[in-house]
Amino acid sequence: MLTIAVSKGRIYEEALPLLKEAGITPLDDPEKSRKLILQTTRDDVQLVIIRATDVPTFVEYGAADLGIAGKDVLLEHGAESLYEPLDLKIACCKLMTATHKDAPEITGRVRVATKYVKTAQRYFASLGIQAEIIKLYGSMELAPLVGLADCIVDLVDTGNTLKANGLEPRDLIMNISSRLVVNKAAMKMKHQAIAALLEQFEHTLAQR
Ligand code: AMP
Repeated sequence: MLTIAVSKGRIYEEALPLLKEAGITPLDDPEKSRKLILQTTRDDVQLVIIRATDVPTFVEYGAADLGIAGKDVLLEHGAESLYEPLDLKIACCKLMTATHKDAPEITGRVRVATKYVKTAQRYFASLGIQAEIIKLYGSMELAPLVGLADCIVDLVDTGNTLKANGLEPRDLIMNISSRLVVNKAAMKMKHQAIAALLEQFEHTLAQR
C-alpha cells in the first residue's frame, strides 16, 4: 500500500489530473466527505487529506510514503529529512513582500508579519535588513493596515487579495510550485512502486 498525503483546495484540485493519469482517482470528494483517508481506484494507493503545513511532517515520519506540498511549506519546514524528486509545476504562485501602496522602500529596520517566519528571516538577513518578524496564522494583509507591521511576506497569485486591501507586491522572494516529496525509508522499501509512480508523473508532466 502506498499512502499519499495531500491538502484540500488548490493543490488537491490541480493534483487530481496528475493522479488520474497514474490510475489514481479518489473514491470520495474531500470537499463533500469528512473522511480523512480516501480509498482510490487503485487498491494499492490511498490518500490522506491533511493541512498543507502538516504534509512534510506526515511524510518525514513515514505516516505517508509520499506527499504533495508547496515549496513555501517545504522551505519553512526544512525539507532535509525528505526526498523532493519532482517539481509537479502545479499551484504556482510567488512568495513576495508586500506593503501599503505608498509605503517607503524597505531599508534598515523593518517589522514583518508572516506565517513564513524562517523564510522571511533568511530573506531579510540575506539583504542585510534587520527584520522583526511577527508570526501570524492568516489574514496577513491586515497587518500593515492596522499598524502591526510595515510589510508582509505572503503568497501572491493574481494580486487581487493585496489590491483589495490597498497593498501592493514589492519584491519577489521565490517562485513557488508544489513538489512531490517522498519518505526516505519508503523510497528504499517500496522502491518499485514509488519509482513507477514517479515515472508516470514525469511522463505526464513532460507532455504538458
Ligand atoms: P491572489 O489574490 O490571487 O493573489 O491570491 C492570494 C491569496 O491566495 C493569499 O491569501 C495566498 O496565501 C493564497 N494563495 C495564492 N496562491 C496560493 C497557492 N499556490 N497555495 C496556497 N495559497 C495560495
